[in-house]
Amino acid sequence: MLKLGIVGLPNVGKSTLFNALTSAGADAANYPFCTVEPNVGMVEVPDPRVDLLAEKVQPQRVQRATVQFVDIAGLVEGASEGEGLGNQFLANIRDTDAVVHVVRCFDDDDVVHVMGGVDPARDREIINLELALSDLGVVEKRLEKAKKSARGNDRDALAELGLLERLNTALGEGKPARVVEANDEEQKILRSYNLLTSKPVLYLANVAESDLPEGDNAHVRALRAAVESSGERADIVPISSKIESELAELPAEERTEFLSSLGLTEPGLHTLIRAGYKLLGLQVYFTAGEKEVRAWEIPVGAKGPEAAGVIHSDFERGFIRAETVGWEDFVKTGSVKAAKEQGLMRSEGKEYVVKDGDILLFRFNV
Ligand code: GDP
Repeated sequence: MLKLGIVGLPNVGKSTLFNALTSAGADAANYPFCTVEPNVGMVEVPDPRVDLLAEKVQPQRVQRATVQFVDIAGLVEGASEGEGLGNQFLANIRDTDAVVHVVRCFDDDDVVHVMGGVDPARDREIINLELALSDLGVVEKRLEKAKKSARGNDRDALAELGLLERLNTALGEGKPARVVEANDEEQKILRSYNLLTSKPVLYLANVAESDLPEGDNAHVRALRAAVESSGERADIVPISSKIESELAELPAEERTEFLSSLGLTEPGLHTLIRAGYKLLGLQVYFTAGEKEVRAWEIPVGAKGPEAAGVIHSDFERGFIRAETVGWEDFVKTGSVKAAKEQGLMRSEGKEYVVKDGDILLFRFNV
């Protein structure tokens, strides 16, 4: 399950967005392994392909992919030193897959800006600096330890030292760990530190209703310029959290009309989830049985056994082959059965690179 942390300065629209995104909510009872906390919300990934599969197969159960949003409040200037609610909140970011950094890009005199005025470049920098400083604390401790061990010619410590020194310099300059170069071995070490600034990030520009549908204004352009000049290749997704919250309150049948009155074709939630999948290089494949039609999340490039392993590790270990119907063949023939009859079901082996939307049935040894 994709887990996205929502960060940003106070009063930029995080909670408004979080509440809107999670209001439809996935039924928590279906996810007994997930902690239910007020700042954690689960959303089913909207996917018309799942609807079509379910319509054709008429299964007893439909299980969509899910995304968990975590509203990380309390990040203010000085948070890394324990200001505001400080470090406790930074810790919440550690177990997310990626960060959605909300930046205020709307003008509204009625909404106080904690830093005095709307300035997306400055806001972005404040948050990024707090995250970098928090990571710097972690890196400094590790560096001290590695230096001691390296004196004893500990090989692992020596290998780590170079990486830690580069991280130390970058973070000390307020740069994120993401931009630090690391070879494959160092990447592995880096992952084990679980630094906040090594997580993939996307910027959510919270724009005014009048900026839709393009979501472009001077603040968004300033944010884009700041992101580009820092060398970060992060996406900027413009969304109006106010519109999202109004949308969430409407009955389902009125939403399409409301969206089209704004020139939009889909809710911001869909745009955001797609951006999150792209950011993390994720895609889905489907299983389609009479009991259950289900979407499974896998990394782009995953081969048959890895895809099978998402269902159960036994499937991965005992993988023999995957009976596969490509999404286009499914649509063309109208059903898995028809695709099979027309010879469009392929038998794929261990080296098969699974494609987005593939319908798979695994054969495996137990
Ligand atoms: P948070 O502190 O970042 O969680 O911010 P909130 O979501 O609580 O929003 C702070 C204030 O800004 C609230 O009064 C919201 O109604 C308002 N607000 C949030 N998003 C928008 C927006 O897109 N446009 C306008 N005009 N106001 C917004």
